[in-house]
Amino acid sequence: MMKAIAAGCVGLLSLSGAYLIVLSFPDPVFPYSHGYRGFQVSSDRPIDPRIDGVIDDAIRRLQTSELYRPGEPFRVHICNSTWRLWLYSEKFSDQMGGEADTWLTRNIYIRPADIARNRIVSPSAEEISDVAHRPLSYFIAHEATHILESRAFGRLMIVTHPKWMVEGYADYVGKGGDFDFEANRRLWRDHSPMLDYGGSGLYRIFHLEVSQLLDRKGWTVRQMFTRNPTEASVQRQLSE
Ligand SMILES: [Zn+2]
Repeated sequence: MMKAIAAGCVGLLSLSGAYLIVLSFPDPVFPYSHGYRGFQVSSDRPIDPRIDGVIDDAIRRLQTSELYRPGEPFRVHICNSTWRLWLYSEKFSDQMGGEADTWLTRNIYIRPADIARNRIVSPSAEEISDVAHRPLSYFIAHEATHILESRAFGRLMIVTHPKWMVEGYADYVGKGGDFDFEANRRLWRDHSPMLDYGGSGLYRIFHLEVSQLLDRKGWTVRQMFTRNPTEASVQRQLSE
């Protein structure tokens, strides 16, 4: 019995070690690569040259963050074959728009993308939710913001800080100022499904909460992460 358990543990450790090695060296399965303004974009397919315009727009969004420095390096991998997203996202799912590995490699993975249209390709037959506010450049800026959070607040920041703050700030920067605070607060008070993360999967409610602290109270992002207030306390402010 003990031998079987020990063998199981050794097997699990070997598998975890192999997975960490795979995560650390994704380049062989992303043979196409293009560098622009600090971004290294890799893909499993030739990269449409219009990616530069997409990156310009992602940087315009990132410039709304005090954590961003011009030329800051990011590694973005576009996964046109979704098994790559499934594997490298560490979620074993291909249903997300993108994923940032904030604890190990600081690599970014984006789902299949139509670079010419600045869009991600929806995982279903329907268009993605809130597509008007979420072009490909939004997803790249959102995931790059997670890398900024990881560099500023540490590789364990997703453990030490709540989801509403981590995702809310990535959404705040990703939208690049394209957010009507009062309109969204009204929607939240009216129990709109767009402001219900559990129902819609959208981070708009988290964005509203972060906006309350940064825009209404005038906190810096560093103050927000240091003070680490509870979501309930921010919602109390929003309902006043
Ligand atoms: Zn996110």
